[in-house]
Amino acid sequence: MAGKYQIPRGTFDILPEDSYKWQYVTDVFKEVVRTYNYREIITPIFEKSEVFERSVGSSSDIVQKEMYRFQDKKGRKFALRPEGTAPVVRSYVQNNLGMNGGNTKLFYMGPMFRYDRPQKGRFRQFYQYGVENIGSDNPFIDAEVIAIGYSFLKKLGLKNFTLEINSIGCVNCTPDYDRSLIKYFTPYLKEMCSDCNTRINKKPKRLLDCKVRGCKKIAKNAPSMLDYLDDECRDHFAGVQDFLKKMGIPFTVNPKIVRGLDYYNKTAFEFIDNKLGAQNTLIGGGRYNGLISQFGGKDVPGTGFAGGFERLILSMEIEGLSFGKEQLPDMFLVTLGQKAFEYGNKLLLKLRDAGISVEYDPDKETMKAQMKTADRSRSRFTLILGEDELAGNKIILKEMESGEQKIIGLEKIVESLKKMCKK
Ligand SMILES: [Zn+2]
Ligand SMILES: [Zn+2]
Repeated sequence: MAGKYQIPRGTFDILPEDSYKWQYVTDVFKEVVRTYNYREIITPIFEKSEVFERSVGSSSDIVQKEMYRFQDKKGRKFALRPEGTAPVVRSYVQNNLGMNGGNTKLFYMGPMFRYDRPQKGRFRQFYQYGVENIGSDNPFIDAEVIAIGYSFLKKLGLKNFTLEINSIGCVNCTPDYDRSLIKYFTPYLKEMCSDCNTRINKKPKRLLDCKVRGCKKIAKNAPSMLDYLDDECRDHFAGVQDFLKKMGIPFTVNPKIVRGLDYYNKTAFEFIDNKLGAQNTLIGGGRYNGLISQFGGKDVPGTGFAGGFERLILSMEIEGLSFGKEQLPDMFLVTLGQKAFEYGNKLLLKLRDAGISVEYDPDKETMKAQMKTADRSRSRFTLILGEDELAGNKIILKEMESGEQKIIGLEKIVESLKKMCKK
């Protein structure tokens, strides 16, 4: 490791040789959500701590252990956002986005922060994308939100993912189920991990998705939420499945999916890539009816999902998928002699103004040195301008891969080069 300073633990730099991958996945995401008519919302990376404490849940891991909290000079309590839904709902209510009725369809992208043990595919600053659909309780919307995730993963070329869905009930049917879970797990508590022991009374559902092997084994035979759903939740869940079938989106019902955030109810879903190891959720989401009124807005329902770009890119790399083209210059300009150098200055600006990317190295003088830099730049073409060419109002265009050379006139150089670049 070089240098005096190292990056904070659990964070990473996205270097130029990788940044085009990030641009590619964000571009594809934007393109997919555009086809579903979702519009971008950009909120600050920090909010008042309460925004997360109340919504995500004061007993959740995120709020208990993982939030980056700080106070400003006036002692106001803030937190770096650990997730994207709470800020979006805060903004939706504050700005009265639902004012005109109908559904408000929003997407976001950006860094999130959680103080967590860094491991493969999990970081302290990580980048998420997500969608929120606020205003409808129609199971069609649950299915459509799932469809966005499905379209996105497919469009990237991913093949090894599966969709698992569940219903985690609502305030009316959850208490009975929670009681049955407490009854089921209590005799096994001594064999279960400390997290499960602390969660049993506050959030017994979380014992269903504990990753500790011993706990997993015990949870296997736990009662299923699906047997406790009231009529409304059962009908809603049947509706979601029906729409998914109509849309041709394959899924399995997994009653163990609970999601770690307090605000979820009814539908919960995950897109999973089993090749990723322990951290295998590509996209997670669900319904959050009640959250908007908790923020002081009208009691309108909502549903959405979020996913991390890091795992997505990892998953694409494992499947050997393309991230589009790396950014390389179209041209490299070589000039020989003072006159060509001076003309070259004007030419560079002219070409760049025309949208052609040109690289030039003012520190190299000889043909050999400049051609070496041209090779290193991996530009498709090299333009060579010597005193002779300049006198004849011409320039040499060399295609680097084939070595083929062409003479083109300087008057119509922009038009000629634009045509060449397109080929
Ligand atoms: Zn219910
Ligand atoms: Zn456990």
